[in-house]
Amino acid sequence: MSFSQLQLAPTLARAVAEMGYETMTPIQAQAIPVVLTGKDVMGAAQTGTGKTAAFSLPLLQRMLAHENASTSPARHPVRALVLLPTRELADQVAQQIKLYAKYTQLRSCVVFGGIDMKPQTLELKKGVEVLVATPGRLLDHIEAKNAVLNQVEYVVLDEADRMLDIGFLPDLQRILSYLPKQRTTLLFSATFSPEIKRLASSYLQDPVTIEVARPNATASTVEQRFYQVDADDKRRAIHHVLNERGIKQAFVFVNSKLGCARLARSLEREGLNTTALHGDKSQDERLKALEAFKKGEVDLLVCTDVAARGLDIKDVPAVFNFDVPFNAEDYIHRIGRTGRAGASGLAVTLVSSSDARLVADIEKLIKKTIQPEPLPLQGQAEQPHHPRGHDRAERQPDRGFDRSGERGDAREPARHRERDAERSFQSASPRAPRHAAAPVDPFFSQPYEAPSEAAAPAWEATAAAAPTSRRISTNIKPKRKVAALFGQTPG
Ligand code: AMP
Repeated sequence: MSFSQLQLAPTLARAVAEMGYETMTPIQAQAIPVVLTGKDVMGAAQTGTGKTAAFSLPLLQRMLAHENASTSPARHPVRALVLLPTRELADQVAQQIKLYAKYTQLRSCVVFGGIDMKPQTLELKKGVEVLVATPGRLLDHIEAKNAVLNQVEYVVLDEADRMLDIGFLPDLQRILSYLPKQRTTLLFSATFSPEIKRLASSYLQDPVTIEVARPNATASTVEQRFYQVDADDKRRAIHHVLNERGIKQAFVFVNSKLGCARLARSLEREGLNTTALHGDKSQDERLKALEAFKKGEVDLLVCTDVAARGLDIKDVPAVFNFDVPFNAEDYIHRIGRTGRAGASGLAVTLVSSSDARLVADIEKLIKKTIQPEPLPLQGQAEQPHHPRGHDRAERQPDRGFDRSGERGDAREPARHRERDAERSFQSASPRAPRHAAAPVDPFFSQPYEAPSEAAAPAWEATAAAAPTSRRISTNIKPKRKVAALFGQTPG
């Protein structure tokens, strides 16, 4: 189905044509006509399916009725509110909306935590029709009376599963309580968990359900490979696959912030342009890392799940799971970074002997049998570019474990995760005898110090420290508590 069949306003159609879109993606073909009618929608769609255009184009089309060139802020009230879990995702969605709306007089802006509120306040005060926001920062603006939401007609809860995972439910409930009851609400989520269904039943009215892929199905354009490799050989496995496939750029996922920094340093030393992207990086550093990757100045972006959530970088040819994710749903989010919007991609998961249970969880979720293949690496016996001091640090059982919420999965008891990590370290140890002369980087012998705001996700830490009456971190609840807020016993 082509965009021309939609009869979008010429200003929107022109922007879409400029983006180079010809045919609609499945979520667009299904959602756009429904959203144009003003109905509530519950959409199961992964990132990379084109869902931003799926909701923003019809919303912009409907809002064109209010389009005006007045300079008075009163003539530009917030009519559409788009809520997202992370600042990167909010920024991306806002950028896309700006592109779609560029030939209209509709204004949009984005607010998220971690940066100065003042420039955001100035934009809000001038009046914007479309407000893209993360929940914490939006509440700050509401409390400061910078954002008035009594004329909101459309609300989008994007990546709703992620918002609940992070513990944004109380914030969402507060925000939704400020909105007019008469409105259109759209909810998008990669999966329809019981919590998501409950959220939908509380806030959506008679929604049309749209599923472009079965929940938990993985993108069919992604070639998924699972390689059985010893924990010691994982970096070499990355080099091997990059060389063998002639891959220029990839994301490498790890389970902890500390592991992320360490792995990035090791890979950099081994000749790959590498940048680490994790929750302890400042917003500025993250955006710079992203830009460098987009420009091709960086080969590998080593990242944690939270930092990478929803990143829209087109044409990432490959994703490596250096660590098998502790939360099987993260597997789907991770591999969603490649094979986006129809392009083919490769997702390589490096499985070591202690990962069996985590792989079984992924099997269950994607409903496919996984049989990790051996990966014959050249010169398996010798490890010339493997400074052993680094290996040890990368496998440190509890130090590599992130205590500040970066991993974000409260469903699995921490002791299990730590025990597994411990096992991994122990099983690998006999194969890695220490050489007295092995080079040691002082970085790796430093003790790990958890950030002082251990309870708050790192991306809200700055916001929490901001001089507002409400400390956002107190609302960040692990998933179990989210279930409890719904009055459910977590299963
Ligand atoms: P999203 O799932 O909204 O993050 O979109 C993923 C990527 O697909 C974005 O870079 C969009 O620019 C791109 N995209 C969205 N719709 C289309 C389309 N109909 N044709 C080609 N690319 C698209």
